[in-house]
Amino acid sequence: MLDLLKRTFTSPSSISPELVEGEHQLYLPTENKTITYQLKLSKRRTSLSIEIKQHQIQVKAPYWSDLNVIESFLIKKQSWIIEKQQQQRIFPVNQNTYQTGSKLLLFGHWLTLTVNHGSKFQLSLTNDKRLLIMTIPRHIKKPQQYVRSKLVQFYIQQAQQYVSPKLQQLQQEMNLQAKALEFKVYKRRWGCCYASGLIRINPMLMGAPHWVIDCVLIHELSHLTHMDHSSAFWQLNKQYCEHCDLSKKWLFEHSLALTLL
Ligand SMILES: [Zn+2]
Repeated sequence: MLDLLKRTFTSPSSISPELVEGEHQLYLPTENKTITYQLKLSKRRTSLSIEIKQHQIQVKAPYWSDLNVIESFLIKKQSWIIEKQQQQRIFPVNQNTYQTGSKLLLFGHWLTLTVNHGSKFQLSLTNDKRLLIMTIPRHIKKPQQYVRSKLVQFYIQQAQQYVSPKLQQLQQEMNLQAKALEFKVYKRRWGCCYASGLIRINPMLMGAPHWVIDCVLIHELSHLTHMDHSSAFWQLNKQYCEHCDLSKKWLFEHSLALTLL
């Protein structure tokens, strides 16, 4: 996962002789923090970009850039940089692959994955919900893809167990009725409500605490009455959901950890 900011130069500034590639340090006054960033220069590049990749800050700039321009851009974007770094820190480092020791979120708690090889597929979650033990058949050619698809199935199962009865309960409270409920993995959304009355929930939302999931369900149910995000929509939504803002914040901060690669 990568976060990126770009700035295009309007006119080239003079060549700065002291500009060198590699590691640079910069003090961010508002954040009261010194950051280390990697500078890469390119002859073809016409814009300046900041990338945050696994907590590391990478700055790419045209070779004729001025260090002052680069640093004032970094200072201008300091809150964005620190926020993205923090967001990426929540995401476990070993998440590039699914293997023994990989961390996953389930209802707001971290669980550890254990992958074994055996004659047939098996999956079990320990009673304390801290360990997910998966046995995958030895003949599987693409084990990462296999584990991922089994994890999606696991989250769909969790969603069926939690969301289906919860939606029933909320529908009664709100006096609303969805036509159908489906689960679908989305990259950038937690749920959606169609004009037909179908509600789709991203099963990866089951990584969030129950109160956050409930907020998303109330949000989608409110769309049965108001298809937009008008003030009437929020008025209805707020009648049943007290933690909209907190839930939005939680999902934003944990969005990387909730995404299956
Ligand atoms: Zn909405």
